[in-house]
Amino acid sequence: MPIEQSIQTDTQFQSLTQGLPDFDQHKHVACIHDDKTGLHCLIAVHNTSRGPGVGGCRLWQYDELSDALTDVLRLSQGMTYKNAMADLAFGGGKAVILAPDFSKYSRSDVFASFGRALEVLNGDYCTAEDVGTSPEDMANIHKNSKHIFGLADKSGDPSPFTAYGVFLGIKEAVQFRLQTDSLKGVHVAVQGLGHVGHHLCELLHEAGARLTVTDVRQDSIKRVKDAFQAKTCAPDDIYSIAADVYAPCALGATVNPQTLEKLQVSVIAGAANNQLSTESIANELKQRQVLYVPDYVINAGGIVNIACESGSDYDADRARQEVDKISPRLREIFEQSEKQDRCTIAVANDIAQKKFSPNTESNIRIHNL
Ligand code: NAD
Repeated sequence: MPIEQSIQTDTQFQSLTQGLPDFDQHKHVACIHDDKTGLHCLIAVHNTSRGPGVGGCRLWQYDELSDALTDVLRLSQGMTYKNAMADLAFGGGKAVILAPDFSKYSRSDVFASFGRALEVLNGDYCTAEDVGTSPEDMANIHKNSKHIFGLADKSGDPSPFTAYGVFLGIKEAVQFRLQTDSLKGVHVAVQGLGHVGHHLCELLHEAGARLTVTDVRQDSIKRVKDAFQAKTCAPDDIYSIAADVYAPCALGATVNPQTLEKLQVSVIAGAANNQLSTESIANELKQRQVLYVPDYVINAGGIVNIACESGSDYDADRARQEVDKISPRLREIFEQSEKQDRCTIAVANDIAQKKFSPNTESNIRIHNL
């Protein structure tokens, strides 16, 4: 049975959602179908106490509906923390589209239909680009919805700003842990050379860092190898590279009990969301004296850039200045972590949680367009 058909009623959907460990009294969880266009998506709005839930839309192939649901619940919660920590007037939300068979369905129709799906949330969720989606997809969503950020004629691709923020975070972490102001000769192992990873490698190379890189795509590896004199390795070997920094810039949960045993770095700092498979891994890292840079703090550059669309006219220089604030924010977390003898993610969560109020009710429903 196709996974989009595995749940038929609101009651079944509610019980699946509420039974998942990542359900955190989310304000909305919507499962939205449009059989005509082939759109099947989940939208989760974790919290709106600071403003509408803003976060990207991911297109991905999932084996089970519960996997997609777990992803959207975790990612939307992460956006609440990220947006609050960055002092943005945004709450947390995220969407996942279950990748349809594009030989049967038109991609532009799927995304135009997703625009209609956004209207179901009445402005409580605003979308943007994420893994698997493109500027063209965003333009198709925009045909049917104004609840969208990061269009090409506004703040555009957030990735260079995310990469810049991650670069600043790596500098701050290296300074704190390795006591050096310069990245010259610092060895960084970068996993994932997509939109963010490629820009990050460029900035690190310009700053004199040594790079070892990997990706599952050979063309991406070749581009970075040729342009930035990077060493390369097979995807699974990146965890065993003896380097100063491991920079995860692909998918989540790459720091887990298996990879923990292989990692030989002093700092973990990268762009991926939900880098730790569980929060208890953070304690392990602390015991091993590995400085973990909380993902939602270091990778906020893109959303900070997007937020500069609101209010006045968008200005890239102003956006860059806003991204610069990631450095002092991280420094404060590192110092507090040392002072309180707690892991960095626990310190960051405490700071973020003070910046939003919990939800009073949850709305969990299936919608057919
Ligand atoms: P992307 O899809 O452009 O790049 C991801 C890269 O990772 C691809 O090149 C892919 O081939 C590679 N990859 C996938 N699995 C891999 C594996 N097992 N080993 C090695 N490489 C692998 O995505 P992106 O926009 O560069 O984002 C990277 C990460 O950063 C994602 O987790 C995303 O959620 C997060 N993030 C991105 C932004 C942004 O502005 N784009 C903002 C915040 C967080």
